[in-house]
Amino acid sequence: SHSYVGPDYSVQKNTGKISLEQIDALSVKSFPLCMRQLHRALRDSHHLRHGGRMQYGLFLKGIGLTLEQALEFWKKEFIRGKVDADKFDKGYAYSIRHNYGKEGKRTDYTPYSCMKIIMTNPPSQGDYHGCPFRHSDPELLKQKLQSYKIPPSGITQILELVKGMHFQLACQKYFELTHDVDDIGFSLNHPNQYFTESQRLLNGGRELKKELSNSGNSQQKNNGQESMNSNLPPTSSNATADTELEGLEAYFTED
Ligand code: SF4
Repeated sequence: SHSYVGPDYSVQKNTGKISLEQIDALSVKSFPLCMRQLHRALRDSHHLRHGGRMQYGLFLKGIGLTLEQALEFWKKEFIRGKVDADKFDKGYAYSIRHNYGKEGKRTDYTPYSCMKIIMTNPPSQGDYHGCPFRHSDPELLKQKLQSYKIPPSGITQILELVKGMHFQLACQKYFELTHDVDDIGFSLNHPNQYFTESQRLLNGGRELKKELSNSGNSQQKNNGQESMNSNLPPTSSNATADTELEGLEAYFTED
């Protein structure tokens, strides 16, 4: 009953429409916090561990990066760190092609939903994947939001939602605060949905009405939304995809 049933963002309408040069700016304006965090970590350390590469790589595929762009993007960053070009080609390029269905079983892997990110594969030390609203220490989350210039009242609201384990609602609040709208107008279930809605809003594709009253309507917004509860068993949103991903693990020999 907790399966994610929305669009899987595997059909990339934007394929090839995003340039690599745009990603830094997009990560600030239109990426959800989970992907903004992964992008920053990649730029800072020139590396991401397996869980991060999967979560971020599939998200980037979902926003429209072609296979060629993905190979260039990861290679450029990794060779600025400890990985030389030869090691990249041998150790990492295969797995990127695999993500795009060009190797192995040729499955076209779909970007992860919020449910999957929140409920499975929690990050360990040195990992940057996961959902910051679910997996970050509240104090660190607070500091991060402060550094992103979220106003104190907004941070308080976000932390309250996190405390109540309403992680996706906390993310919706972050969207509202970073896009200067009072009501997000949709129920957030997927990082790629966040990106698409952000771009639609910023590019004027849709007008969101600014409400005069911003009295607490977060409960109403919860209607129809999958609610996260850490008491639930860590079930998978997509058992078939998980089985396929297990096969894929073998290709990630490098950490
Ligand atoms: Fe990412 Fe979803 Fe968490 Fe938002 S709620 S940070 S989109 S996993």
